[in-house]
Amino acid sequence: MQVTIWGSCHCQKIRYKALALSEAVRICHCTDCQKLSGSAFRVNLPVLQSDFRLLQGILKTYIKTTDKGKRRAQCFCENCGTQIYATDADSMVIEHTNAEITTLHYASNAEKESVQPSTDILVYYNIRVGTVDKVVSDNRVRSDNTVGSDNTVGSDNMVESAISLTPAYQQWCQSARQWVTMLDDIPCFAQNKLT
Ligand SMILES: [Zn+2]
Ligand SMILES: [Zn+2]
Repeated sequence: MQVTIWGSCHCQKIRYKALALSEAVRICHCTDCQKLSGSAFRVNLPVLQSDFRLLQGILKTYIKTTDKGKRRAQCFCENCGTQIYATDADSMVIEHTNAEITTLHYASNAEKESVQPSTDILVYYNIRVGTVDKVVSDNRVRSDNTVGSDNTVGSDNMVESAISLTPAYQQWCQSARQWVTMLDDIPCFAQNKLT
C-alpha cells in the first residue's frame, strides 16, 4: 500500500516526510545494524530519494564502508543522535531546505566532475522505522504521487498508527541474535519492571 509517512528525531529538531510502500518494511540483523543502533537489529523502510523531504533540521552524516567497498552514508540528528536513514554515499545526495530540493552535491569534488546527475539512477533512503510518527494511506489522501511541502494532514485522511508498519521479511539472519525468535517466551511488562 502506498503511504505517506511523517517522522522526527527524539529532540524534534529533525522532521521529515516521505512517500513509501508499507510492504517494503524489513528487519536487518547485520552486525553493522547492531553496532550502529546499539540494539539487536534495525527496522528499515526504503524510500526513493526523490520521494523524501526533510521538513526541518540539518542531518549529520557518518560514512561507513562495507566489506565489498560500498560507502554508505548514515544520516542522523547531530543534536540527539537519532538515526534517520542511510543511503549510497557515492550517489548524488540531495540537500533539503524547507521541503524543497534546492541543491545537488556530491561526496567529493572528483565525483562532482565525473558524475552527472541522471534520473536513471535510483537512490534509496533506508528510513529507520522507529523514527516514523504517522502513516497515512495515500489512496485516501491524494490522486497524484507527489510529495508536497505541507506538514499537515486533512481531517478526511486515513491516519494509521506508525505501529502498522509491520516488517515483510528479515535479512542477514546469519548474524541474528539467537533470542530474537523467542521474544514471546521472555516476560513482558507494559512499562518498566518495578523492582
Ligand atoms: Zn534530534
Ligand atoms: Zn543491516
